[in-house]
Amino acid sequence: MPAEADLSAHTPIIRQYLSAKAQHPDRLLFCRLGDFYELFFEDAEKAAKLLDLTLTQRGFSAGIPVKMAGVPVSTLENYLSRLLKMGESAVILEQTHATQKGLIERTISRIVTPGTLSDAALLDELQNAYLLSIFPMGKILGLARFNLASSELSAEECPVQELESALFRIRPSEVLIPEECAFLEGKLAQWRFAKKKLPAWHFELETANRLLTEQFRVKDLKAFGLKGHNAAISATGALIYYARLTQKQELAHIDGMNFDEESAFLGLDFSTRRNLELTETLRGEKSPTLFSLLDCCLTNAGSRFLRQLLQHPKRKTQEAVERHEAIDYFFNYPSENCAQNLKGLSDIERIAARIALKNVRPRDLSGLRESLKRVFFIQNVLPEHPSFFKRIGEALKIDSKILEHLAWIAEEPAAFLRDGGVIAEGVDAELDECRALNENHGTFLLDLEKKEQARTGISNLKVEYNRVQGFYIEVSKSFSNQVPLDYQRRATLKNAERFITPELKNFEDKALSAKSRALTRERVLYEELLKKLFPFVAHLNRLAKALAELDAVIALKNVAEKNQWTRPVFVDEIILDIQGARHPVVEAERRRQNESFMKNDVLLNPNRSMLLITGPNMGGKSTYMRQVALIVLLSKIGSFVPAQKAKMGPVDHIFTRIGASDDLSAGHSTFMVEMSEAAAILRNATERSLVLMDEIGRGTATLDGLSLAKAILKYLLEKNKSLSLFATHYFELTDLAQFYPALINVHLGAVKTEEGIVFLHQLKNGPANKSYGIEVAGLSGMPQSVLNEAKRIARELEKKEGEGYEGNLFVHQEEHPIIEALLSLNLNETTPRAALTWLFEWQERVRKT
Ligand code: ADP
Repeated sequence: MPAEADLSAHTPIIRQYLSAKAQHPDRLLFCRLGDFYELFFEDAEKAAKLLDLTLTQRGFSAGIPVKMAGVPVSTLENYLSRLLKMGESAVILEQTHATQKGLIERTISRIVTPGTLSDAALLDELQNAYLLSIFPMGKILGLARFNLASSELSAEECPVQELESALFRIRPSEVLIPEECAFLEGKLAQWRFAKKKLPAWHFELETANRLLTEQFRVKDLKAFGLKGHNAAISATGALIYYARLTQKQELAHIDGMNFDEESAFLGLDFSTRRNLELTETLRGEKSPTLFSLLDCCLTNAGSRFLRQLLQHPKRKTQEAVERHEAIDYFFNYPSENCAQNLKGLSDIERIAARIALKNVRPRDLSGLRESLKRVFFIQNVLPEHPSFFKRIGEALKIDSKILEHLAWIAEEPAAFLRDGGVIAEGVDAELDECRALNENHGTFLLDLEKKEQARTGISNLKVEYNRVQGFYIEVSKSFSNQVPLDYQRRATLKNAERFITPELKNFEDKALSAKSRALTRERVLYEELLKKLFPFVAHLNRLAKALAELDAVIALKNVAEKNQWTRPVFVDEIILDIQGARHPVVEAERRRQNESFMKNDVLLNPNRSMLLITGPNMGGKSTYMRQVALIVLLSKIGSFVPAQKAKMGPVDHIFTRIGASDDLSAGHSTFMVEMSEAAAILRNATERSLVLMDEIGRGTATLDGLSLAKAILKYLLEKNKSLSLFATHYFELTDLAQFYPALINVHLGAVKTEEGIVFLHQLKNGPANKSYGIEVAGLSGMPQSVLNEAKRIARELEKKEGEGYEGNLFVHQEEHPIIEALLSLNLNETTPRAALTWLFEWQERVRKT
C-alpha cells in the first residue's frame, strides 16, 4: 500500500481512497465508481481471493501500479454478507456530489462489521449477532454484549478462567479488546469471530462512566446494578463508543442495560454445552440437537428466543414455572388462535431497531402495521390466568397512536423510498397535489380544453402535450386571430398555431417538477414519520419479545404434546427424582427408525448422592447420564420433560466430563483435557450441582487411571457432595459402596444370546457383573481371529488371577476395606458410643469374611 506521505502525487480518486483507508486500515474499503464499488491495492488482492473476484491492474498512480477488483452496485449486499460471515469488516465510500471542478466528492457512508448489523439483508434470520467487549481487571473480566438488531445491552463479570465458557455461551460475531493485552489476544487466538483491538483509553473507567450516564441520561449507574462492577462498566463504555462510531449516530434509543449477576444463570460450562449437544452436535452439525427438536416456532424471533433460552437458562425457577403453567393451559385450551396470528408476523424486534437506527425500509413499516393489527387478535384471545398470559398480554397492549402514525405508509409501498409511492394518499396535501399533477395530466387537460373552448368559442381548440414543446393550446390557423389576449404564441405550424396561457404555464411548471417534488416530499414525510415512531421503539421491543416468548412456549407445548412429555415439579429440598426418563433426541431419532426407547428412573438426594454406573460399552450409560442433565435443563427453561414424573430441587450448575477430545491447538492432550475438566469440577461443584462423569481415568495407564478415578470419586462424595452420575469401566470402584452409603451401584445390563449380545438399556440396581468387552468388539467388524485370540488371553489372565498372578493390576492395590472405612471416619465428630458401635460392626464383618 502506498505510504501516506506520497498522497499528493496520486490521482484524485486514489487520494480519496487512501485518506479514507488511513482511518480504517483493517477494513476492506469499497469505493463507489459509477455502477461499481471498487477495491484498490492490497484490499483488491484480499477481496479477489475471498470473494473470487477478478483482479485487474489499471494504470499507475504516483508510479505505483493500481490493482483493482470490483463488484456491481446492485450486488454489494451479497458480497458484504459473504465477507461478514468470514469475520471481515467493510467500509463503504459513497459518491456524494460533484465539486465545481467536476471531481466527485466521496464520504464514508457505512461501516459494516459482523457485530454491528441491523440490515435485514446481512443478518441471519435465526441467530443473533452479538458484539462483545472484554476488559480485564486483575483476575476479573468485564464482559458487555450488545445485539444491535434488538437493542439489547447486557454486561457481566466473570473470572478469567471462565472466559471460554462465556464465549461459548454468547457466541459473539465480533469481539472488542484493549490494545496491547497479549494474554487476552492469546486466549482468543483460536476463536474464529472478528476481533477488533481498541486503544486502551476507550476502556478507561472514568470515560466509560461518563459516556454511559450520558447515554442512559442518569446520574449514576446504580439502577442498572453496575455499581462497583468497574470491569463491566469499562467494557460497556468501550462497546457503546464503538457501536456509535460504526453506526455514525448516537444510538439514543439505548437507554438502559442489564447487569447479569453470575448466580442468575444455571452454570453450563463449555464442555457441558458441547457434550449435551444443545444447539450443535459433537460433529458441529445443526441437527439432531435439543434445539432442532424443540424449534417448531412459527416466527424467526421465536426461534431466536428459544435458542437464547437454551443458552442462558436461569437458576431461579419463577419464569420456568410460569411457562409450565402456560403449557399446561394450552394442553386444555387450544393454541391455534394464537398460532394462526403468529404465523407470518414481521420481525418486529428487528424492525424496531431499524426504526431507531433510521434505516428501516418502507415495507418493514407496512409489515409492522399489518402485524400490529394481528397482535390485537392475539391479545384478545389471551386469558388473564395463569400469570404468564397476563405478563404477555400487558406487553402486547398497543398504543393506538403508533397505528395512526403507521397509517402514513401506503397500503403496498415500494421497496425503496427512492422509488416513490411510499406515503399513503390523504396524508399530506402537498404530496397529493404533486402526485395529482403527475398522474392526472389527462383530466386536467380535458377540463382546461372544455373551459377554453367555451371561453373562446373555438370548438376545435385542443390542449395537448409533447416532449419538445411541453403543454400548449393548439388552434387551427383559421381561428388563430380569435384567441384571447393572454394567449402567447409558442409555435407556428403549417395549419395551426400553438399557444400557452399563464394558467397552463403554471400547470406545466408544477407538473414537470411534480415527480421530483413528490419524491422530496415523501422523503421529508418519511423522516418525520420515523421521528414520530422513535418514542415507540422501547414499546415495540417489549412487544416483540413477548410475542417471541409466546411463540416459543407454543412450540414447547407442541413438542411436549407430540412426545408425551410431562410437567416437572420444583421443590426446595436437594433431590432429583425422575421416573420414566428418556433422552429427548435419542428417543426421537429411534422413533424415526421405528425403534423403541427404554425408559429409566433416577433418584438422587443427599443420602444417595451418587449413582455409580457400570455396564458394557454401548449399554446406554452416556445416554442415561445425558438425559438426566437434559431433563434438568429443559425444566429450567420452562419446558415439559421426557419423563413420566420429574421432581427436582435447586440446581446451580451442571458439570460434565464426558468423552474424549483433544485440544491440541492449546497444547492439551486428551488426558490433559480430561484431567483439567475434572479438576474444574472438583474445584467448583457444590451440593446443588449435578455432576456427570463418564469413564474418568481412561486416558492413561490402567493403574494410574483407576487410582485417579477412585480418588476423584471419593472427593466428589466427601467434599463436593454433589448429585452425581459416575459411569465407569473400573469394576473395582463398585466395592466402595460398602463404605459410602451415599454411593449406589447401578448398571445397564446386556445378555448374551445365540445371535450375539443384546443390550437391555434398562437400569438395574447393583453393579454389572461382566463387561462384555470382547463381545461388543465383535459388533464392530473385528476379524474373528483377533476376537478368538482376545478370548483366549482373557481366559488365561482370569486363570492366573485365580492363582494370585502378580501381573493382575489390582491385587496389590486392594487394601482391606476396613482401611477405607477407618480413613473416612471423622473422629472429631464421632461420639465414644458411635465409635464403639463402629468397632463392633467391623469386628463382626471381619469375622464373617
Ligand atoms: P455407552 O455409553 O454405555 O457406551 P451409549 O449411551 O453411547 O452407551 O448408547 C449406545 C447406543 O444405545 C445409543 O446410541 C442409543 O442408540 C442406544 N441406547 C442408549 N440408551 C438407550 C435406551 N434407553 N433405549 C434404547 N436405546 C438406547
